[in-house]
Amino acid sequence: MLKQLYELLNTHYDEMVSIRRYLHQHPELSFQEYKTAKYIAEYYKKLGMPVKEKVGGNGIVAKIIGAKQGKTVALRADFDALPIQDEKDVPYKSTVPGVMHACGHDGHTATLLVLAKVLHQLKEELAGTIVLIHQHAEEYAPGGAISMIKDGCLEGVDAIFGTHLWATEPTGKIQYRIGPIMAAADRFEITIQGSGGHGAQPHKTKDAIVVASQLVLNLQQIVSRRVNPLHPAVVSIGSFVAENAFNVIADTAKLIGTVRTFDETVRDEIEAEIERITKGTCLAANCSYKYTYTRGYPPVVNHEAETKFLIEIAKQVPDVTSIEEAEPHMGGEDFAYYLQHVKGTFFFTGAKAEHVKNPFPHHHPKFDFDEKAMLIAAKTLGSAAITYLANHGDVCQTPLRRSDV
Ligand SMILES: [Zn+2]
Ligand SMILES: [Zn+2]
Repeated sequence: MLKQLYELLNTHYDEMVSIRRYLHQHPELSFQEYKTAKYIAEYYKKLGMPVKEKVGGNGIVAKIIGAKQGKTVALRADFDALPIQDEKDVPYKSTVPGVMHACGHDGHTATLLVLAKVLHQLKEELAGTIVLIHQHAEEYAPGGAISMIKDGCLEGVDAIFGTHLWATEPTGKIQYRIGPIMAAADRFEITIQGSGGHGAQPHKTKDAIVVASQLVLNLQQIVSRRVNPLHPAVVSIGSFVAENAFNVIADTAKLIGTVRTFDETVRDEIEAEIERITKGTCLAANCSYKYTYTRGYPPVVNHEAETKFLIEIAKQVPDVTSIEEAEPHMGGEDFAYYLQHVKGTFFFTGAKAEHVKNPFPHHHPKFDFDEKAMLIAAKTLGSAAITYLANHGDVCQTPLRRSDV
């Protein structure tokens, strides 16, 4: 059956490319992907497949119900674009000013649509159900995953698999990781309230710039002296604003920063530490402060058994030339939420063509990827779904084990 899957996917490769290029030319921002959602839903309707629209927003969920009973496996692809001007010189460049598919979500969507079409053709041989989750708004917190889950996209799902095309790794490479693979990405803001005044009379003021400067340095102690060095963490201040004239002492100063972690306990610890240090620094300077900490996506934590299963699957996929453990990425991904509800794994599919020496990274105005990688992603995801169902097939006909009684 896998051989059949690969052959059918090869036959439909051109369609995959044309879908990807169409979507690339017509990108839509997170939470505004109305036309893309309609395009996806129409594709399923034309195939005569059951499809649910407006799931948790612009999300789309389609289903392939196999001829035989069994488990349910979900595959997920995101479909939003970014507020970036496309600077590539290709025939399929974005036609929407200031909006671009600069992360490869057009490729994810084309991959899943064509894979669904092929799996639908094989449904007589499937033992179970395949749920196709087309998720809106991955790029912008709170993201689409959380609302799609609340709206029931994971109902009855036993396991989930997802991939991200990765344009800086060579085509043919699959990267996996057991445990945390992508970080929790949070944002914090601190406003120091001092007491402004004349630059010539500092003794009559509480200089917010001096206090905020001390605070920036004091916050460096969190990663270097508070968090266990075996637990990766980042605390970065990306913005320090206290605009004034040359002879005026600042009344207020505002710091904005990000925290990246892989462990929920470390995440909690850092959130509390920032406040404790801010409180102490302000107390020493007799200033007040306002602190807000906004949680982004949680870390993407892959399940062990499903990741090991994926490694075995990838070994059998033609065109996969190497399989390696990924280093954890400090970037965020709302696939994290699915993995909090069901078992599964998220992996990277290399998408850098051989002739490309210095690929532009994701979110770059000249970002592009090797379209051949879509075929590898489809084969890997398709094999995972088929094999998962085959391994767990006909559960209803399986006699009860002692532990089930
Ligand atoms: Zn992205
Ligand atoms: Zn992405």
